[in-house]
Amino acid sequence: MVTTQNLIKYLDELLMPEKFHDYCPNGLQVEGVVEIKKIITGVTACQKLLDQAIAENADVVLVHHGYFWREEDPRIIGIKKRRIAALIEHDINLIAYHLPLDAHPVYGNNAQLAQKLGLKVELARDREVTDIIFVGSLAKPMSAHDFVAHVGKCLQRQPLHIAGSNKMIERIAICSGGAQDYLQKALQLDVDAFLTGEISEYVVHLARETGIDYIAAGHHATEKYGIQALGEHVAQKFNLEYKFIDIENPV
Ligand SMILES: [Zn+2]
Repeated sequence: MVTTQNLIKYLDELLMPEKFHDYCPNGLQVEGVVEIKKIITGVTACQKLLDQAIAENADVVLVHHGYFWREEDPRIIGIKKRRIAALIEHDINLIAYHLPLDAHPVYGNNAQLAQKLGLKVELARDREVTDIIFVGSLAKPMSAHDFVAHVGKCLQRQPLHIAGSNKMIERIAICSGGAQDYLQKALQLDVDAFLTGEISEYVVHLARETGIDYIAAGHHATEKYGIQALGEHVAQKFNLEYKFIDIENPV
């Protein structure tokens, strides 16, 4: 028999959430049934994902974006009430890993994204395991234009590109999701391009003024591979039924 506790213990050992100063609690967020047989993964625990998990008779919903974010209204009302009620009513466990999933060297969002793009990840000597910016290299340098087309093809979504100083792209800082505020950090890594999920208006100007090629490839698009890899891994490890549910998101 596999229990929720077995799964959480394993995930905590694998992802080491205690090492991160995160914006949300990692691990079990809403408690459900004790014995688990079927696990569903998705990027975000939105109502649509929960509805599909209920239809699939899932015991666990494992996500990257769960609930209870720092600075959100802590009251369980409105949308939050409906989501949590759906989980409790159907005895489904909600398990979420945020930064620990971005950072994991094998199943993490950045590691999986690098693999998808055919980038070789550098493990710098001074890199902490908690670092969520990865540096990856292309086997052969490409023009920015070709690299952006490559990213678009791999992720099946046209990225937004802020052109840099027209140099060839070889080393790329990657940070999945909404990492537009990590541009300055990425610049310190002496890379040719910065690839993340999103961009903000003011970041366009910063990027132009630094000369780096900035590629915003989609928050959802850059974060859907980590949770899938993690779900596949634990399903195999604990012999659970498994399904990834992709809820389309244009951002
Ligand atoms: Zn995210």
